[in-house]
Amino acid sequence: MQRSRATVAVIGAGPGGIAATQQCKREGLDDVILVERGQPGGLLYHANLLENFPGLRGATGREAVVELGEILMDYGITIMKADVTNISMAKKGFRTVSAHGPEVISKYLVLATGTGPRKLGIPGEICEPEWRDYTGERVAVVGGGDAAYDYALRLNELGAKVIIFRRNEPRALNALVDEVRLEGIEEICHEITDWQRSHDLYTLRYGENTLSCDMVVTAVGREPALPAMDFVYHGCEFPTGATDVENLYAVGSLVLRGYRHATLAWGMGLAAAMDICGKEMGVRKE
Ligand SMILES: Cc1cc2nc3c(=O)[nH]c(=O)nc-3n(C[C@H](O)[C@H](O)[C@H](O)COP(=O)(O)OP(=O)(O)OC[C@H]3O[C@@H](n4cnc5c(N)ncnc54)[C@H](O)[C@@H]3O)c2cc1C
Repeated sequence: MQRSRATVAVIGAGPGGIAATQQCKREGLDDVILVERGQPGGLLYHANLLENFPGLRGATGREAVVELGEILMDYGITIMKADVTNISMAKKGFRTVSAHGPEVISKYLVLATGTGPRKLGIPGEICEPEWRDYTGERVAVVGGGDAAYDYALRLNELGAKVIIFRRNEPRALNALVDEVRLEGIEEICHEITDWQRSHDLYTLRYGENTLSCDMVVTAVGREPALPAMDFVYHGCEFPTGATDVENLYAVGSLVLRGYRHATLAWGMGLAAAMDICGKEMGVRKE
């Protein structure tokens, strides 16, 4: 098996992981490996409109992700493209094993793997929609939070006839709800009680009624996305993400629970790197 060694391994190239890697480089700690299974930028790619990321205010998630990619280029950071499947303790640090990638041995490990979608169990449900032309398609978006309303707006912009299903009153930001209503997007306040799929057409049942659509997008919550580990850590400190396992950090929406925002993920990645560089390169000057 191929093996790479680094002082720091960062898993996940969303805002948290990119900030951690960039800050290590800025502090002169060059020996960092950033591992990512998909595209850099993480979940931010799916944001319709960023209103709360200074410098990127008003950008779409796609534009923000391009900017993050440029940060990586500016600092000469190349991503090791691999899906991490297992993390274990090595003699002096951590062993990160990936499907089809080299094994990475590192003294420090920063987990920045974000979250994965909770599923409803509807066959073919889509949790992170593709951004393409949806003209002529009917799309049911299930969920009442920010992500559901954000997806509904974007899909509507891309030509879909969108219907939002939510069980209760919306939990999304008022601004998103107002915009959905301004756009005339239909909202149905009812649980989906049954579904059928035939020839790529869905029939959703809610109470006594049914609705046909071409696609079902679900945004019903997210869970921490942690690769399998043969050891456990119990919680972490804010803002550095330092855990009770020596030299292990967990940052960003992986640990942010009800505070999952890109700026907080970014700040935690930055703080983790500052902590690591402080330990590795001597006490920080304040
Ligand atoms: C629709 C929508 C709209 C949003 N709008 C906003 C907004 O306006 N403002 C805002 O601040 N935030 C917004 N967010 C939230 C924001 O996207 C997240 O808070 C932020 O992306 C979290 O960053 P992160 O680095 O912690 O995790 P993520 O962005 O989730 O990145 C984690 C990365 O780790 C990778 N990864 C996971 N597991 C593995 C593995 N085993 N091996 C290798 N790589 C792995 C993933 O592929 C991913 O790239 C929005 C989210 C959504 C869904």
